[in-house]
Parts: sequence; structure tokens; C-alpha cells
Amino acid sequence: MILANKKGLVVGIANDNSIAYGCARKFREAGADLAITYLNAKAEPHVRPLAESLDSKIVLPCDVREEGQLEAVFARIEQEWGKLDFVLHSIAFAPREDLHGRLVDCSAQGFALAMDISCHSFIRMARLAEPLMKDGGCLQTVTFFGSDRVVEHYNMMGPVKAALECSVRYLAADLGVKGIRVHALSPGPLKTRAASGIGRFDELLDRARERAPERMLATIEDVGHVAAFLASDGARSLTGNVEYIDAGYHIMG
Ligand code: NAD
Repeated sequence: MILANKKGLVVGIANDNSIAYGCARKFREAGADLAITYLNAKAEPHVRPLAESLDSKIVLPCDVREEGQLEAVFARIEQEWGKLDFVLHSIAFAPREDLHGRLVDCSAQGFALAMDISCHSFIRMARLAEPLMKDGGCLQTVTFFGSDRVVEHYNMMGPVKAALECSVRYLAADLGVKGIRVHALSPGPLKTRAASGIGRFDELLDRARERAPERMLATIEDVGHVAAFLASDGARSLTGNVEYIDAGYHIMG
């Protein structure tokens, strides 16, 4: 029970395939109490039963584009718990027409929207979490190695994830003095709803399975184990990292 007495916020569960759900299950199994958000009324019936299975008392809507919704989530956490120990930000978005084209051709609006939802929202969460992490804490986001290498069909999300990983390092530097640690989890490809928006994703899955040193794909539970450890006190001297959870795929040339 490495997260006993810890309180965490999980943003990004859409269904039981979501990386955020794999993490939430491991956080709960490790003893944490969780606040869980859903995107909107359409998503709520899919997310609420999962939140109930995790015994979550705080279940709220949160579209990071909707004025005041993120703030309302943190206000409720302050009211209910008076503190927060960890946050998982597991969200991303890019308009389909921009995501499916070359980076050269992406629109300014599409790029700005992808950056806002997939990257700047993490910075906003860090700002809101800071006053609640009185005894230190851990902020985690989810990235992909298309940030570092050109992965076919990842297109515009490559630079967006690169900005997210760089933000992890700067946030870690800003907040380390308060005992707040910041990480990016970098799973290999996983069949989720967000991934279905990426062109020829099945080929990426096959390639990762064949080329990874361990000849397998990591699962959302594998990601969850790492996320739970990083949120625990045992990881107190780790910050600013990109943690690859991909059966070693990222080391292959
Ligand atoms: P998913 O579809 O289950 O989760 C994506 C989540 O983003 C959804 O819950 C959705 O509601 C949320 N979201 C989108 N726009 C939002 C907004 N405006 N406000 C709040 N939430 C919003 O897919 P996933 O694969 O679990 O994605 C989670 C994260 O993992 C993403 O950052 C993704 O880029 C990253 N990732 C995915 C893979 C993969 O292969 N699936 C690999 C590496 C990294």
C-alpha cells in the first residue's frame, strides 16, 4: 500500500482502455483516494461506473477548454480533502485534418488547440495543484517518443509532445524546492480511443511488438505500476524524467 493516505486527481479516463484508467486502478490498489473527471455529459455514463469501481467520492466534469471547469475541480478537492498528493494528466487532442497531414501543412489554429489541450493544460494543473501540495507531491503527464524521433503518421503531435516533455523539465525545476516532483510517462503504442485517430496505428503496434527487445507491448497496467511508484515516497529523489514504459522499444535504432 505505497499510496496509503494519499489523495490523487486523475484526468483522462474515457473508458476502460484509457491509460488513465490503468493508472487509476494501480493508484487505488496501492491505497490512494482518487478524484476522477470526465470530459462532458456524453462521456459521463462511460466514466462514472469506472470511478465508482474505484470508490471515488469526487467525480466531476472537466473539459480543459471550458472556462472555470479545471478551477472547479481543484476547488472541490480543496474543500473535500484540503490537500493533494498527486495528479495524473492523461489527455491529448489534435484536430483530425491537421493530425492526418504533414507538419508543414498544419494550421495555426489546429496547432494552438493541440498545444492548449495537450500541453498548456498540464501547466495550468501544476499551478492549481501547487498550493494544495503542502507536503510536496507528484505531477505526471503522458507523452510518446514521437517527440524525440520522427514516427510516421504521428505528425503534428511530435512537436506538441516535445513541448510537453520540455515543460516537465521546467516545471520540475520550478517546483522541486517545494518537494513537488514532475514526470512524463512514455508508454509504447496502446490501442486506445485517442490512438485510433492516428493513421495506420495497427502497423505501429505490430512494429513495436516485433522490434521491442522484450518482443511485447506494454499494457495500461504496466504504465499504472510505474505511475504508482512515481507517486509514492519511494520515488522522492526522482524528478524531471521521461519514463519509458515500452518493453525497450525506444532504444532501438
Ligand atoms: P484516451 O482516448 O483513452 O484518453 C484521451 C483522453 O483525453 C480522453 O479521456 C479525453 O476525454 C481527454 N481529452 C481530450 N480533450 C480534452 C479536453 N479538452 N479536456 C479534458 N480532457 C480531454 O487515450 P489514451 O491513449 O489513454 O490517451 C491518454 C494520453 O496518453 C494522451 O496524452 C496520449 O497522447 C498519450 N499516449 C498514448 C499512447 C497510445 O498509444 N495510446 C502512447 C503514448 C502516449
